[in-house]
Amino acid sequence: MDFAVLTIFPEMFIPFWEHGIIRRAVEQDKISASAINIRDFAEGRHHVTDDRPYGGGCGMVLKPEPLARAIRDVKKRQPSSKTILMTPQGRVFNQNVACELASEDGLIFVCGRYEGVDERICQDFTDDEISIGDYVLTGGELAVMVIIDAVTRLIPGVLGGADSAEKDSFSEGLLEHAHYTRPQTFEGMAVPDVLLSGHHKEIERWRLETSLIRTFLKRPDLLKDRSPLSKQELKILEKWYFDIGKIIQAQSSSGTDALSGDE
Ligand code: SAM
Repeated sequence: MDFAVLTIFPEMFIPFWEHGIIRRAVEQDKISASAINIRDFAEGRHHVTDDRPYGGGCGMVLKPEPLARAIRDVKKRQPSSKTILMTPQGRVFNQNVACELASEDGLIFVCGRYEGVDERICQDFTDDEISIGDYVLTGGELAVMVIIDAVTRLIPGVLGGADSAEKDSFSEGLLEHAHYTRPQTFEGMAVPDVLLSGHHKEIERWRLETSLIRTFLKRPDLLKDRSPLSKQELKILEKWYFDIGKIIQAQSSSGTDALSGDE
């Protein structure tokens, strides 16, 4: 996978390329990564990349010519790469979009600044527009780092464990189960016994159950949208349904009127 980022602040990417998973992926030739200065494609003594908006108003806009030249230049080296404009107006990034992007040969990201980029770049020079959420950043650089990080960890062979990305939150439509490490007891809180039992089937069941509980409590929308729940997942949900029913029944038969009133 070839990542190229067009930005007026390429130096922001130096520490990003040099740490953790990204660094390892570059060293192992799983990805190539470069940050290209849009200014290098701007003409004139001052290499100006922005100008005032037509029609008036505040702020500046990134000029189209340097961006167009920069995109064409990268395309010569990465002809099959997809060009993505970073903008809060784009489709919202999530794990599914990350998976989709991970299957591309290469990605060229255009980082806006100020009020954004000249509309003619959006029209004719980009294949996609992506936002990382419904808020406005001062530039596309941090958004691109988020995307490159999420996509890189999905590229086969990048993560240490063969299946670590497959089990992450969202990849199977659920949040991931809880994790514990040593010590066995920390400030009075013990690791669940089942994780110390060595019983793999029981551990898997516990993990699925905590995964379902978390998803139900923290992101019920994911459960609602999930394509058919597996038999095992349904069984776990039915058991809770049954257990909760028993608690409610016990309350009503003990004569409490909490269930009959509003409060
Ligand atoms: N005036 C633009 C608007 O209201 O749509 C916002 C411009 S923003 C201050 C400057 C640049 O930051 C954008 O061109 C884009 O590249 C980047 N940016 C800001 N928020 C973003 C987001 N949520 N996702 C992706 N990129 C974003």
